[in-house]
Amino acid sequence: MKPKSQFRNLEVVSTCELSQHLKRIVFTGEDLEDFPSDYEGGYVNVILLEDKSLIQEGERPKMRSYTIAEFDTSKKQLTIDFMINHHNGHTSVWASRTKVGDRIVIAGPGPRKLDNFKSNKYLFFGDLTSVNAVRGSVNKLSKESKVEINLFVPTKDDFFDLNLKNPFSVNWIVADESDYLTDAARKSQLLDSKTIVFAASEAKRIKSLRDYLTKERGLVNDSLFISGYWREGLTDEQYRAEKHKYK
Ligand SMILES: Cc1cc2nc3c(=O)[nH]c(=O)nc-3n(C[C@H](O)[C@H](O)[C@H](O)COP(=O)(O)OP(=O)(O)OC[C@H]3O[C@@H](n4cnc5c(N)ncnc54)[C@H](O)[C@@H]3O)c2cc1C
Repeated sequence: MKPKSQFRNLEVVSTCELSQHLKRIVFTGEDLEDFPSDYEGGYVNVILLEDKSLIQEGERPKMRSYTIAEFDTSKKQLTIDFMINHHNGHTSVWASRTKVGDRIVIAGPGPRKLDNFKSNKYLFFGDLTSVNAVRGSVNKLSKESKVEINLFVPTKDDFFDLNLKNPFSVNWIVADESDYLTDAARKSQLLDSKTIVFAASEAKRIKSLRDYLTKERGLVNDSLFISGYWREGLTDEQYRAEKHKYK
């Protein structure tokens, strides 16, 4: 059963930089007592307030979605990796400066997007915002699955070990201004009309990828687990208001 969405108070217990543009922040809090296990690759909404009591009844506070990298039930520790030093966002600036003892509120969790683990061919496209969504889903696949993983990052200093359960290789690619998701799909050896495709990245490029897969390659919506996680030039609120344009 999907857990009821609720607000939880959390405190930062440790931080470290996984790469030039990705900072790992580990949180704890008594409110994680009933946080569900097996949500790695799902998400929570991060609210930059020090206490949930500051949220008024019926209010929707400013929030951003972030992926659950790990949850340790026994220690009540929730790990999230934040993209930093790349854009000037409300949350990314907070993440780049945060230190042990800082407090936030979260809502959620929400589930992993990919829920079909019965196929034998999977093609993944992601960036630093979705490495843990990719990892959470890839770790659900059997080692016999045929898997191609393409991750687009700002610099070579952002390549790091994903620590996957099975030894699937990862194509780390430095992103440029091009339509890189669709370009990579065109080159994929694994893509046919039966391949399951997971993609989460910049909204305009995600739309281009969706159009290519459905219109030129004949994939059906049931095989596609595709989301725009952010939109170049728009804050999250502005992107949500225009989301229908990227379907
Ligand atoms: C389900 C889901 C899970 C997500 N998981 C993660 C995660 O684990 N880690 C993570 O870092 N992000 C994750 N994201 C993306 C994150 O929510 C957005 O990047 C969000 O906009 C960041 O908020 P902000 O306050 O930093 O910037 P905003 O205030 O939303 O935007 C400020 C400016 O920065 C630009 N911008 C926003 N994000 C990026 C980016 N990634 N690269 C370049 N420019 C950007 C915007 O276009 C805007 O111009 C996830 C999104 C979704 C939908």
